[in-house]
Amino acid sequence: MTQRKILVTSALPYANGSIHLGHMVEHIQTDIWVRFQKLRGHQCHYCCADDTHGTPIMLAAEKQNLTPEELIEKVHAEHLADFTGFYIGYDNYYSTHSPENKQLSEQIYLALKANGKIESRTIEQLFDPEKQMFLPDRFVKGECPKCHAKDQYGDNCEVCGTTYSPTELINPYSAVSGATPVLKESEHFFFKLGECADYLKQWTSGSTTLSDGRVQQHLQPEALNKMKEWLHPDENGEGGLSDWDISRDAPYFGFEIPGAPGKYFYVWLDAPVGYMASFKNLCSRIGLDYDEYFQAGSQTEMYHFIGKDILYFHALFWPAMLEFSGHRAPTGVFAHGFLTVDGQKMSKSRGTFITARSYLDGGLNPEWMRYYIAAKLNSRIEDIDLNLNDFIARVNSDLVGKYVNIAARAAGFIAKRFEGRLKNVAGSELLAKLAAQSEAIAADYETREYAKALREIMALADIVNEYVDANKPWELAKQEGQDERLHQVCSELINAFAMLTAYLAPVLPKVAENAARFLNLPKITWANTRETLGEHTINKYEHLMQRVEQKQVDDLIEANKQSIQTASAAPAAETSQYTPVAEQASFDDFMKIDMRVAKVLNCQAVEGSTKLLKFDLDFGFEQRVIFSGIAASYPNPAELNGRMVIAVANFAPRKMAKFGVSEGMILSAATADGKLKLLDVDAGAQPGDKVG
Ligand SMILES: [Zn+2]
Repeated sequence: MTQRKILVTSALPYANGSIHLGHMVEHIQTDIWVRFQKLRGHQCHYCCADDTHGTPIMLAAEKQNLTPEELIEKVHAEHLADFTGFYIGYDNYYSTHSPENKQLSEQIYLALKANGKIESRTIEQLFDPEKQMFLPDRFVKGECPKCHAKDQYGDNCEVCGTTYSPTELINPYSAVSGATPVLKESEHFFFKLGECADYLKQWTSGSTTLSDGRVQQHLQPEALNKMKEWLHPDENGEGGLSDWDISRDAPYFGFEIPGAPGKYFYVWLDAPVGYMASFKNLCSRIGLDYDEYFQAGSQTEMYHFIGKDILYFHALFWPAMLEFSGHRAPTGVFAHGFLTVDGQKMSKSRGTFITARSYLDGGLNPEWMRYYIAAKLNSRIEDIDLNLNDFIARVNSDLVGKYVNIAARAAGFIAKRFEGRLKNVAGSELLAKLAAQSEAIAADYETREYAKALREIMALADIVNEYVDANKPWELAKQEGQDERLHQVCSELINAFAMLTAYLAPVLPKVAENAARFLNLPKITWANTRETLGEHTINKYEHLMQRVEQKQVDDLIEANKQSIQTASAAPAAETSQYTPVAEQASFDDFMKIDMRVAKVLNCQAVEGSTKLLKFDLDFGFEQRVIFSGIAASYPNPAELNGRMVIAVANFAPRKMAKFGVSEGMILSAATADGKLKLLDVDAGAQPGDKVG
């Protein structure tokens, strides 16, 4: 087998927040792949770094009374400790604020410039006159030009979904100082991405033939489809590649652009260069040939594991930057989906926004999570769900019940009855069955079909457990003259355990390390999936993994809730005439419900319904029909004509049996005696005004 030379990266975590399980999905996915390649004997280097530049870091440091350098150093230590706690085995975890990255970013920029791919243009941008800085889109807020929702970001409206430029906001203000921004001209540098379209069409749909003869597509099929949308303008000329603004004005935390004082590289220019810089730093430490990996036409392999949200940067900007600055392009970009918890987006109020630190500090075993996430991952860009009950059940049943118990059930007899010596069981039928899957399971790991690999490994564990039940070593041990048979069975079981350990080693590195000590092997390699141990003495067995307890998971969720609880908890109601206060909700939860003032144009009874009233409402920006179940409280519907009500404006339209479609919900208070009372609003409020 030829030894492959592979460079692998995970996306660089941003240095202004904690590592959570969402990050962990990607780093576990990458780490399993890297460990697999190393077990197979390939030269594989895993590089990552903190992404340290940009306005958010600059402002976060200021808030904490730190310099940006102090902030990123502190965060780097935290991030590395979190990842290391989950056994993520980087060969280098570096920083984009490094001398190597500065030098490489400048070199790439100058090469692109020499290649005619950089152009300067004067643009107008919103400027905060108080803070004396240009404002990134996310730092300008104001009223949506379309639906007039207040406090929307400068790039898109979270209420009506419209995208726009920050200069289109009504009554814009700076999210940094509150000042009204002014338009100011500035010279910016653009990477002429539009000119790279032909190359990118070719690269995105292309493939590379590897040294072992396999063909590696550069992108997954779903990613390629997405790129086609971006690369090809539609019939209206919409879409297609726009040139990319790669500069930002001072004050900015980043690298100054050579020959352009006061201009800095946009963080997204130097972030992917951070992959190269981390690798270059590794090369100088361990004596590798950096150029062999990054020169144009390199025969080495390079893979980037990323989340689906940053495909644009990795599948378009990055290959174009590399190609037109005289470097190699990636061999593959592997995108994954997002993590949900119990079927929902991770949520701070529900305690499911689980930080890596809280998991480790709660004493939960990181290999439980590595196993569970691996059992959900495949090669496609699908969201994966952490179902907490399933997590407990699967870890306990698969890892403890099926796998670890095999060693536990045989080790004692080998130690007590045979002085720790294994019999040579080379011809075993059971072991032949296990060894036969070696290449099939290797192919699953190679193609990132981890869920399939683990299903196959657990099917092998089932076969071993059936063998245990059929041969009952604990009964053989009690019978006269069965020593030979007991030795055979237990030796087969220890060998089977060694094989399963080698199969699971990419996912469970710590267990594999401890199992190697028990098995008296220097280390586990992929060869252990198909080779028996022969006559061999093993060490004393020590338990390899505990079960997950429900309480540990409950405590974890509680711990993640506590971090956002404030002193404002409502006092408990004293009498039972009140409906109990609902579970705690966050401000973000509240902000999802868009409530508006609406004027009743016409209210009438609904024929065939004793409960419903039909409201024709003016929302200012449009008219809508809403059915409301308040007929019993308002026997004269026409009385309501002309008054104001409060209504939820962003529910999906709902079909009301035979009556029609209801486009929202009118708010009312439910009194203790079961009446509904419509909410009102003081004079001066207009239809369409946002309530909140
Ligand atoms: Zn809007």
